[in-house]
Amino acid sequence: MADPVNGAAVGDEMEEEQDNPTGGVTYLCGDCGSDNLIKAKDPIQCRQCGYRIMYKKRTKRLIQFEAR
Ligand SMILES: [Zn+2]
Repeated sequence: MADPVNGAAVGDEMEEEQDNPTGGVTYLCGDCGSDNLIKAKDPIQCRQCGYRIMYKKRTKRLIQFEAR
């Protein structure tokens, strides 16, 4: 972890990891393979096909969300 930059406020850190300062993580659709930038408040769902199984691009770990 880098040292805080001079003058930069360390905001509220969520337990969720974030890939970029705008918030959100890019996921790869498990069905059609489209990139989807999913923000914390967004539903985990492919915007192209509506599929709910998304791969986190960075970790390549399968993250499955049950539709309930
Ligand atoms: Zn898809």
